[in-house]
Amino acid sequence: MSLLRLLPVLLAFGLLGAHFLRMGIDGGLVAAACAPLILLIRRRWAARAVQALLVGSAVFWLVSLARLASVRQEMGMGWGRLAAILVVVALGTAAAALSLESRSLRERYRRGGQSTTASVVAFLLTAVVLVFVQVKVARPMILAERFWVGGGWPTILGLSVYAAWINELLLDPARQAKIRSRIWLVFSMFFFAQLLLGLSGIEQMLMSGDLHLPVPAMIVGGPLYRGGGLFMPILFGVTVLLMGPAWCSYFCYIGAWDNQLSGARHPTNTSGPWHRRLRWITLVAVVALALALRLLGAPTWLAAVLGGGFGIVGVVIMVLWSRRTGTMAHCTWYCPIGLLATGLGKLSPHRIRLNDNCTACGLCSRACRYDALSSEDIARHRPGASCTLCGDCVGVCKHDAMGYRFGSLSPATSRAVFFVLVASFHAVCLAVARI
Ligand code: SF4
Ligand code: SF4
Ligand code: SF4
Repeated sequence: MSLLRLLPVLLAFGLLGAHFLRMGIDGGLVAAACAPLILLIRRRWAARAVQALLVGSAVFWLVSLARLASVRQEMGMGWGRLAAILVVVALGTAAAALSLESRSLRERYRRGGQSTTASVVAFLLTAVVLVFVQVKVARPMILAERFWVGGGWPTILGLSVYAAWINELLLDPARQAKIRSRIWLVFSMFFFAQLLLGLSGIEQMLMSGDLHLPVPAMIVGGPLYRGGGLFMPILFGVTVLLMGPAWCSYFCYIGAWDNQLSGARHPTNTSGPWHRRLRWITLVAVVALALALRLLGAPTWLAAVLGGGFGIVGVVIMVLWSRRTGTMAHCTWYCPIGLLATGLGKLSPHRIRLNDNCTACGLCSRACRYDALSSEDIARHRPGASCTLCGDCVGVCKHDAMGYRFGSLSPATSRAVFFVLVASFHAVCLAVARI
């Protein structure tokens, strides 16, 4: 019975697909054919996402009507019949969106109610950003588009669904730490797979053809040495402004390794004051060395060897210390970008805060791999400077004593805002993966 009620939806997407077929836009046809598959996900956000797509399609038909009518008018041709047909199609498409409000379908898609709004926002935010990139940027930025003209459209659909899905999972404090670890690892694997394929000769994987060393310190060191190449610093800066230091808990391609290696045991948080100062030393060293190499006109191979050496020392730290201490030693002691992320991250309004329910039990401290919850930090009701907003501590607190804050918003809304941004940015970065 419910499936029969989905017929208007299938028909609406079928018409849209036929339109793309006629226009020769294969990718649009594939996206329209795949859109109803979202309804296989029996969550309320999935039904809402399909409704949003149908409303968007209805608007698309009306915009097409205006465009075609003006062309026909200019050519002195009649457009009344065309207008009647397209208005009926637009109304039918809008009615298909309304059909998902029937009692049986609401019942079918009732699960996941609490996070519905946030997941739909993540879906729409991802879709809007990627449609803008697909339509407005002349050079094909979406990875699939570089191999198949029109391939950007199904990518946009798939990754918008991905954003909504991971947003729902991340909003569940009990599962968030595990999900974070997994999606971060997937993100890093995707990055390195793209790098290896690019190095093996598939040029589209590299986009600019301008390789940079996959060592985070080179986000600062690279442009200083080259005197240009600002893509990574800009990407880093945008992330930090939007999501604070979450670069270091959700997006960095190397930090995911430190997270995995430290994950073998519970954090012991053995950092002393000198550990925390070490990153200042590496930051000054990277900046000074990059500038010196540039001023001395050092060859690229020398800069690459030094940058690679810095990265290898980092891997050794992960293997020797992160694995043993359960703390992300590489990220909290060594990597200068972590220092910049946590420092500049204060410019964004996202925070983790403890409240008066806290009993100082210390459980959260044993979940923090960034060494940001010492007993002093807990007593002050705020994490230490190395907090990256990973959120792992929130799920372990049994007293509802800690959570995300964003200005004067409630903790629940603050959490939703943070994870909508994280999920959407994840999906957008996967779509436009660029090295
Ligand atoms: S500290 Fe460095 S390696 Fe670790 S996550 Fe941040 S940028 Fe990446
Ligand atoms: S787990 Fe909760 S109650 Fe215990 S110290 Fe942390 S914030 Fe306080
Ligand atoms: S204090 Fe909490 S949110 Fe901050 S780094 Fe530690 S576990 Fe992550």
